[in-house]
This record gives sequence, C-alpha cells and structure tokens, in this order.
Amino acid sequence: MSDSIFTRIINREIPSEIVYEDDSVIAIRDIQPQAPVHLLVIPKCPDYRDVVDLATGDAELMAHMVAVAGQLANEHANGDFRLIFNSGEDAGQTVFHVHAHVLAGGLEEGTLA
Ligand code: ADP
Repeated sequence: MSDSIFTRIINREIPSEIVYEDDSVIAIRDIQPQAPVHLLVIPKCPDYRDVVDLATGDAELMAHMVAVAGQLANEHANGDFRLIFNSGEDAGQTVFHVHAHVLAGGLEEGTLA
C-alpha cells in the first residue's frame, strides 16, 4: 500500500510546518485550519488507521498523543482545547493514518474539523 500523506510528511518527502516531534509522534499545523489554532498530532507508526485501532493496539501511545495535545494547547493558546478524531469516511475521515485534531485559540460553538 502506498504511504499516507502523513508518513510522507514524517519522512520529509513533502513539506509541512512541524510544531513538535519526538520518537513516537509528530505534530504539524493543519493546512486548512478550522480554528485559530488547528494542529494535528500524528503517531509515526502507520499501523493504526483510526482511533479505535489505536486505543486497542497501543493505549500508551494514545495517552501520549493526548498529553502532547495538552502541551501544544498550552504553548499555542491558553491551554483549553478540543480534541477530535474523525473515525471512518462517514465521519469525515480522509486520511486513514490515525491523527488527532487539536483545535484551540477561540473556538466557535459547533466547530468541528
Ligand atoms: P478531514 O479532511 O475531513 O478533516 P481527516 O480527519 O482525515 O479528515 O483530517 C485530515 C486533515 O489533514 C485535514 O484537516 C487536512 O486539512 C489535513 N491535511 C491534509 N494534507 C495536509 C498537509 N499536507 N499538511 C497539513 N495538513 C494536511
């Protein structure tokens, strides 16, 4: 199967604005922001297609993603944030390499990524 757009970003094959990186995750600025701060926290491992896959396959990695989201919300906004995982096509998921949307910095009611 061909690499997801996020694997290509992780491998520096396509450019992105990286705001955080460690051994297991990367965080980038979303190219089509839905809020003043819209970041994506993405595990480097490409094996999990959605949040249920991730939660059942590596709960520790999921917990780490949530911690990174909180840290980024502190750095880029006032610490408050909305964390969204779109799971499945009918829920709007377009990239099947699990990722968390971190929305912050003045959210309007009903804002969904
Ligand atoms: P949706 O497109 O409905 O939000 P996903 O939950 O699968 O579906 O999210 C994919 C996200 O990846 C989108 O918010 C999209 O703007 C973002 N995205 C796609 N390509 C890039 C890119 N090259 N750099 C940064 N963000 C990207």
